Amino acid sequence: MKGKGRETDPLKRIALVSTPWPLFSRPSIQLGTLKAYLSTQFPDLEVAAYHFYLKVAETIGYNLYQVISEKTWLAETVYATLLFPERLKYIEKVFCRETSGNPLVRKAGLKTLANKVKKVSDVFIDSTDWGAFGLTGFSVCLCQLTSTLYFIKRIKQRFPDLSIVIGGSMFADESTRNLFQVFPEVDFVVNGEGELPLSQLVRHLRDSQSHEEIHTIPGIVSQKTANNETPVSFSQMETLSNLPTPEYDDYFNLLKTFSPHKTFFPTLPAEISRGCWWRRQQGAAKYSGCAFCNLNLQWSGYRSKSPLQVVSEIDNLTTKHEILSVAFMDNLLPIKESEDIFTGLGKLSKDVRLFAEIRATTPRHILETMRAAGIHEVQIGIEALSTRLLKKLNKGTTAIQNLEIMKHCEELGIANVSNLILHFPGSDLLDVEETLRNLEFALPFRPLRFVHFWLGLGSPVWQDPGAFGIKAVFNHPNYAAIFPPHIFSSMNFMIQAYRGKLGLQKKIWQPVKKKVRIWKKEYAELHRGPLSTPILSFRDGMDFLIIRQKRVGTEHSTHRLVGTSRAIYLFCQRHRSLKRILAHFPGIAEDRILPFLRMMVDKKLMFEENGRYLSLAIPVKSASNSGFSSRNRANT
Ligand code: SF4
Repeated sequence: MKGKGRETDPLKRIALVSTPWPLFSRPSIQLGTLKAYLSTQFPDLEVAAYHFYLKVAETIGYNLYQVISEKTWLAETVYATLLFPERLKYIEKVFCRETSGNPLVRKAGLKTLANKVKKVSDVFIDSTDWGAFGLTGFSVCLCQLTSTLYFIKRIKQRFPDLSIVIGGSMFADESTRNLFQVFPEVDFVVNGEGELPLSQLVRHLRDSQSHEEIHTIPGIVSQKTANNETPVSFSQMETLSNLPTPEYDDYFNLLKTFSPHKTFFPTLPAEISRGCWWRRQQGAAKYSGCAFCNLNLQWSGYRSKSPLQVVSEIDNLTTKHEILSVAFMDNLLPIKESEDIFTGLGKLSKDVRLFAEIRATTPRHILETMRAAGIHEVQIGIEALSTRLLKKLNKGTTAIQNLEIMKHCEELGIANVSNLILHFPGSDLLDVEETLRNLEFALPFRPLRFVHFWLGLGSPVWQDPGAFGIKAVFNHPNYAAIFPPHIFSSMNFMIQAYRGKLGLQKKIWQPVKKKVRIWKKEYAELHRGPLSTPILSFRDGMDFLIIRQKRVGTEHSTHRLVGTSRAIYLFCQRHRSLKRILAHFPGIAEDRILPFLRMMVDKKLMFEENGRYLSLAIPVKSASNSGFSSRNRANT
């Protein structure tokens, strides 16, 4: 069969490959979705999906793999060493920088690691009969660039006639064209989502049996079409309702081959929607969506599945694989459908553990439905605790909304693993001061992780850098260390760098970093012990309220609110404007209510922003019902 499969048996079989370094504990949703879709379009087509990254994780050890997979640059250095051994001294510099504070990876060493990875990769490449496939596709997301290129290069050395197609979030629009000049082993690139273009490509290859005679296929850039002047085309499904349930059998079959002490319970990836509804054009705004975001380049608009479709997929997948952890891969859940989806999931009566990314504007009642359905962890688009900065980020949210959803998560026992973006270009001292001030009110809630802004190709900041005080944009210099000069200068890479007051940004955000570190430490300390309670909580005596405020290094304090004070505090469990408060308590004059509200803010029991008030304490009762104590025990 070797090397002649295509001529004898044209396109009866294709291979889809995902190389390191995606999270090892999940099957690839890209491979699972494409395999399921292609199987419905071509019932006689055999699709082999290789979740090869799992094999590498098993070989080098899950802990080591995880650390590497969480750091893009670190991940790219390993296969870069194999691809461009002559650049080792430059690549090693990146590796050293990225491993500072990571003794596990540093100890493993770049050369040893690269050798181990080479061995397992080459065994896989050499033992697979690539000639039996009429087409091999690679899904390339962040962290997978050098590993994919290594595989393509090695496979093409053995099977020069094999057609290779690549796609994924690493390639978008015009940046796909130059690829053929520097990586001639690649035959086709999918621009945008893969289902329709890949199906048409398969159909074409079946009919013509040649990639030389390729005509124009929407969404496919080929060696041939890339040379002409026509713009890069795009083709996506109108709705997601034709998408079958993802097919993850290949991942689970591989896992079954591991020895018992190397097996584990994976998380199932699922998708409800594609795209981001926040990226809809907003009035006269110059750009849509969040200023830093380039997550949706492969999609146009926003599409979501019906609640019935989602519930039945989760039901089928969890039953089939006997797994109860599910991560929704969506950038943003739909607003309208979410309630029905999570109500439906709740009705399955399965003890699922769900993860999703949501916006800070998600209403409380939907959060409650999500919690009841099994949402255990969320990533909220918090990004900042300064309303001034949130405006620059075009988040469409305010600090008081962010604090409110952080409080709801704390109360409902939903782990909130969200980010605080530092060093955003154009942020200034006033943004920092506001952040520091508001951080004081966030301390009772699960700490945010600070992340440094990075410039994404295609993001609004990248498109209009001048508006954010950026003087010049260019490929990130780490690519210059990894790739030879002719590749570096020919390609537009996904991670960009820029010139423009970087030193100032680093300096002004230092105090925030320091404060976030203290926050993390104190939060852990205040939750130590088997009977942990929330940092700021209240118990309701129906006519009075007792608020308990825990602090590090000092006595905890308690406050009693009686009668109307209690009623106002409870009314502001969701943020309310002064006008609403006055209207709700018509018998009480403003000059009596305002001093009370100010006193609450002074004591950090309430937060105030632009005349809106939010009570910060959470009821002890619902915190304990939500499993608060055990959750925090597990994390401290
Ligand atoms: S960060 Fe999230 S909400 Fe903002 S544009 Fe990107 S996907 Fe949409």
